[in-house]
Formats: sequence, structure tokens, C-alpha cells
Amino acid sequence: MRRDPYEVLGVARGTEDGEIKRTFRKLARELHPDVNRHDPEAEEKFKEAAEAYEILSDPERRATYDRYGFEGLDSRGFSSQAHGFGSFADIFDAFFGGDPFGGSFGRGPGRVQGGDLAVEVEISLEDAARGVEAEVAYELVDTCEHCHGNGAEPGTPIETCERCGGAGRLRAVTRTAFGQLVREQACDVCGGDGKVPTQPCVECQGRGRRAVRKSLKIDVPAGIADEQRIRLSGRGNAGERGGPPGDLYVLVRVAEDERFLRDGSDLVTVVDIPAPAAALGSSVNVPTLEGDEEIEVPAGTQPGTVVTLRGRGMPAIGRGRRGDQRVVLNVVIPRNLSERQRELLEELRDSITEHNLEEPDESLLAKVRRAFR
Ligand SMILES: [Zn+2]
Ligand SMILES: [Zn+2]
Repeated sequence: MRRDPYEVLGVARGTEDGEIKRTFRKLARELHPDVNRHDPEAEEKFKEAAEAYEILSDPERRATYDRYGFEGLDSRGFSSQAHGFGSFADIFDAFFGGDPFGGSFGRGPGRVQGGDLAVEVEISLEDAARGVEAEVAYELVDTCEHCHGNGAEPGTPIETCERCGGAGRLRAVTRTAFGQLVREQACDVCGGDGKVPTQPCVECQGRGRRAVRKSLKIDVPAGIADEQRIRLSGRGNAGERGGPPGDLYVLVRVAEDERFLRDGSDLVTVVDIPAPAAALGSSVNVPTLEGDEEIEVPAGTQPGTVVTLRGRGMPAIGRGRRGDQRVVLNVVIPRNLSERQRELLEELRDSITEHNLEEPDESLLAKVRRAFR
């Protein structure tokens, strides 16, 4: 099924071209594999978005689609090229003339937005329940402090680039699947600055940016699930020539806890209870997120009985109500009996009658269900 291109990009029918382009760029950045390593569908989603953009960015195709839908496009021989590309890089190159993270995503002439980064942080289940301030350390490309980003050794002159005459851009003609594309490229000598330092900065060798290690404290909200991402706007790589920085994506991993299984916002715990204690009724210790808690188990408790502790599970992000904790009572038959225990059990066994096995008014079907749960 082909989805409506307006729906794919999430724009209204009458949206103007510039807005469509901005929307697609934003979407493309979000779906880029460097950011989306954990979403196997990202590439398909991206191709779908590229196909939608292909239609909506071309006035003739867009008009045809608006009037006659996909059938109209097919009958006029407008076929998509988006699926013919080998990789993301090819697609970006065809649409934007370069990788969005390295190249042409500037927000003004010559400016280039910095690339996005991804980093992982692992927290415990308790911290996921309460919310926590976690520290992440990562490497990023930051503005060089020595030259403040202009690439020149402080106090030395900067001259106009001879190759581009100071424009910072060069025109290039390339053939792509969409036909001939005339595009502007950053000048390869000055890198788009239009100016070259006579004496490059000794710290960054004239690049104006350098790799640094940073650590950052982030607020992980209570109730976060394993593999959820937190986006920190502007914490990615520094932009070039005054462009804005990229974003930092923190992938949160919630460590497994051997006491609890997580089921949405519910927690599941299995507690062993010896068969005689289950028969007599007893109290058992149950681990909860708030520490151990004693719960009463009534006489005649059967294997697999579930006790629900209301509101003792995980919080839901942004909402007050917590899930429940389900305690599964695992009735254990004693093993490795001593002489004395064996005698007692033999005596007990011989005293058992049908009356000890029945549950009041239980049907055969209910009994089978109980046996197999
Ligand atoms: Zn520098
Ligand atoms: Zn130049």
C-alpha cells in the first residue's frame, strides 16, 4: 500500500514548497541511520519519505498527484527513483548535495548545522522507577577555544580566498537519477568561509573545530522504558561558520533486575513457598521497589496463585498512576527429605482424602484450567 505523500510528510495539502522542503529535511535527519541504529525500519521509512518528497517537491508531479492520485503519476510515467538508490548517502546526495551531517544543512548562507550524536546510558530498574540524574560522557566536535572557530592563529591576518573570490561557494553540475542537477558546493579551498587564515590555528590546524570529551548530567524521567531515547537539543557537534549545533540523542538502557520482570508498567515477581506452608497459610517475604514486604498467604494457597499489589509497579511517564506488582506464588514440593520429614509426610499422605483436594463447587473444566495455568 502506498501512503498519501502528504500524510507521510505530515503536511497539509496546500503547504508551500519551502515548508515541504524543511519538513522533509527535518524528517530525514530524524531517520538518519547514525541516529537510528536501533530502528530497523528507519531505512524503509526514510525511503517512503524520500518518495513522498520526490512527488511534492516537483510542481508537475505534485499537480498530477493532487488531481489524479498515484494512478495519474503511474500513467504519465512518473516513477519513483527513491528505491533505486543504494544507500542513505546516495539519497541525501541527490536531494541535498551532500550528507546532512557533514554538509549542506545550514540555516543561512555558508552556515552548516553540526551533526547529531548518539550515546548510551544504563540505569537500574529502581532508578527507572524513581527517575534519576544520570551522567553521560561522550566525544563531540566542538568549537576550538584557541581560535574561537575562525581557524586562524590569534593575532594573524585572514585573507580572501582566491579560488572562490570570497563567495565560499562553487557551482557544480552533476548527473543524478533525477537528471542534471546544478548545485552550489562549498569551496574546497576555504571550506565555504570565503576567507583563509594566513597562519592556521595550532590547536585545530585551521579547522576551527576539534574533538573534545564532554560529560553531561541528564534528567531521566521516572517510568522510562528500556531503549527509549531522550533528545537533547543543541548538545551535538558544533556547527560550522556560525551554524547551530546538532542534537544529542541519549539511548537509555534499563538493566535487567533478577527480582522483577517488567510488563509495561506492571512488575512481575515469583516467590517460592514450601507446599506445607501454602497448605497451612503463612506469611512470605516479597521484594518490592520500596524494599522487602511481608504478605499473608491464606491456607490452601495453590501453585500459580497471583497476588496483586496495587500501585507498586512502575510509574507511567508524565502520568501519576503507577502500575501494579503481580506476585506469582510458586508452591515448591520439598526435596531432600530427612528421615523424620519422610515419616511425617507418609503419615500426612495416608491421611489425605478426596475432601482435601477439592475446591468448593469447582467444575472439571475449571480444575483442568487450574492444573495447566
Ligand atoms: Zn583553532
Ligand atoms: Zn574559497
